[in-house]
Amino acid sequence: MQQRVVVVGGGYGGVAVATALDDVADVVLVEPKNQFVHAVGTLRALVDPAWQARVFHSYDALLRRGRVRREWARSVSPGVVRLSGSETLEADHVVLATGTGYPYPAKFLEDDTAVAQARLERTRDALRRCEQVVLVGAGPVGLELAGELTSAFPGLGVTLVDREPDILSGDYLPELRTTVRAQLESRGVRFVLGAPLAYLPAYDVGTYGPFAVETTAGVPVSGQMWFRCHGSRALTGYLDAELSRGMHDDGTIPVDEHLRVRGQQAVWAVGDITDVRESKRATAAREHAEVVADNIRDVLAGRAPSATYTAAPERIVLPLGPHGGASQVEAGGIRTLLGPDETSLIKGADLFSAAITQQFSGGVRG
Ligand SMILES: Cc1cc2nc3c(=O)[nH]c(=O)nc-3n(C[C@H](O)[C@H](O)[C@H](O)COP(=O)(O)OP(=O)(O)OC[C@H]3O[C@@H](n4cnc5c(N)ncnc54)[C@H](O)[C@@H]3O)c2cc1C
Repeated sequence: MQQRVVVVGGGYGGVAVATALDDVADVVLVEPKNQFVHAVGTLRALVDPAWQARVFHSYDALLRRGRVRREWARSVSPGVVRLSGSETLEADHVVLATGTGYPYPAKFLEDDTAVAQARLERTRDALRRCEQVVLVGAGPVGLELAGELTSAFPGLGVTLVDREPDILSGDYLPELRTTVRAQLESRGVRFVLGAPLAYLPAYDVGTYGPFAVETTAGVPVSGQMWFRCHGSRALTGYLDAELSRGMHDDGTIPVDEHLRVRGQQAVWAVGDITDVRESKRATAAREHAEVVADNIRDVLAGRAPSATYTAAPERIVLPLGPHGGASQVEAGGIRTLLGPDETSLIKGADLFSAAITQQFSGGVRG
């Protein structure tokens, strides 16, 4: 009889583990959404309806032998995954891959694609009536959203507010901030930095509603729509007392060099929920998945886990719409700045959507 592997969460990391083990184990992928969400493309899908088809992908062609169960994992213990119904799945190996939650429109609360798409359409229609949109948070998501909005709606005013004195907090080259800011300012984006909003607009994010607020420094900020572009948190609240021992304040969980949950023999973790010291990226989640799949293959074959994970050099690729943006890449300890054309080539034009579409049409395994 084949060993049972239950993968909890069907995002970038979970999908990669499930497909890599599909030929050697009895794989069940537990995921509440009816379709995979390509988070990298969601901001473009907000402004361009043609992108909706590139963001949501059916799980139907993903696994040849394994199954996708459309359920929430309500509680997970070593060897046992309890689903949102009354059902319990027993597992020889559990892989945790539940990622991070992020405010709309970067990620969706909705589990049903039709509902998520209807919300995107309502927001897009309302955006056409707006003169000014306020984005709270000038990190990668706020800046990328400002780029998408100003590319798709050239007459639209955008205000970016952040409590920090500069955009993009983190270990970045000053030139990266300078060029991103200059590109957005040339499109009329207003930066209100150095103080948070004293109070939030009285409307839900992504809905039409004229408002006037101010920062704690007394700077007036007004618009007809706003988005919260900060506040990600690892989704690990379903772990039982044993597995959540050692959980960090941000919800991430400690893993060892084999990406096994610390102190566990057969519980593994990949992607944004791990406490690996690196920026949270889909590319990292997929690399974690390769390591975990190799290690589970080892254990299934009676060997000790042999694969270890080493974080890749840091990089940020920050498109500002299909044609703008900047990137910082690192090789041999040397950090290099790339401009709009290279950023568009690496990510901005396609947002990795061709590779994702191929993967979900059964074109790429593992
Ligand atoms: C706007 C934006 C742009 C980005 N651009 C890039 C980029 O250019 N390059 C890059 O590398 N990264 C990028 N990222 C980051 C990337 O999206 C994340 O790092 C990646 O999604 C993490 O993958 P994951 O598998 O850990 O989690 P996710 O992809 O978030 O998947 C987690 C899955 O788990 C499911 N889940 C949650 N709770 C449960 C539960 N209790 N039971 C069952 N299932 C559950 C969720 O529904 C979800 O499908 C971007 C993110 C955003 C928001």
